[in-house]
Amino acid sequence: MAVKDSMSALSGLAFNLWRGPWCGLASPWQWWDVEGIGALFVGNQGRALRGGNMSDNTSTPDHVAFLRLAIAESRLARAAGNHPFASILVGPDGEILMRQHNAFMPEHDMTGHAERVLMTRASKSLPPEILRNSTIYTSAEPCAMCAGAIYWAGLGRVVYGLSEARLKEITGDHPENPTLDLPCRTVFAAGQRPVEVVGPLLEDEAAEIHDGMWG
Ligand SMILES: [Zn+2]
Repeated sequence: MAVKDSMSALSGLAFNLWRGPWCGLASPWQWWDVEGIGALFVGNQGRALRGGNMSDNTSTPDHVAFLRLAIAESRLARAAGNHPFASILVGPDGEILMRQHNAFMPEHDMTGHAERVLMTRASKSLPPEILRNSTIYTSAEPCAMCAGAIYWAGLGRVVYGLSEARLKEITGDHPENPTLDLPCRTVFAAGQRPVEVVGPLLEDEAAEIHDGMWG
């Protein structure tokens, strides 16, 4: 497969992720973590993103930088013909474990939200202790379904861009995205274990991806 062949040049791409080495690929996440190669060089990026402008503590992940990656992924999702939503899963050591675009297309799956699909993948492949200490960075606030998936997967933290309330202002009752405006904190508050929530963050940047999408 041509994509795998190109992996031989990945060492240089570790410093190039903002441009996206996967540009032009229909489904970058299909090879991203499955091959076990992605984590190798994404780990370099993860370390680079730790201790950024959110905190002086170098053990604190840079939420803004990781969220910008998720927003960049949502831009790629739209470019690939999907709804402009995406999420990334960041592990305890700051490495990006998985990426997921919205998966409405090609089968018109109304439950194919990026967070829900990502949590299904993560739950099936990662141990509970990793999930408990991992963070999902997602371009928009998880809806009730996705917050439920995050809870059931046992994830420890959510960082989101666009709030559901603002997303609702953007999408209205569009048949492909009749936004379910329920704060994810409300869903998590009904659970039996804590899920830390950070957001909204970078709302204007996260909203920009939706320009002209739902009108
Ligand atoms: Zn959702």
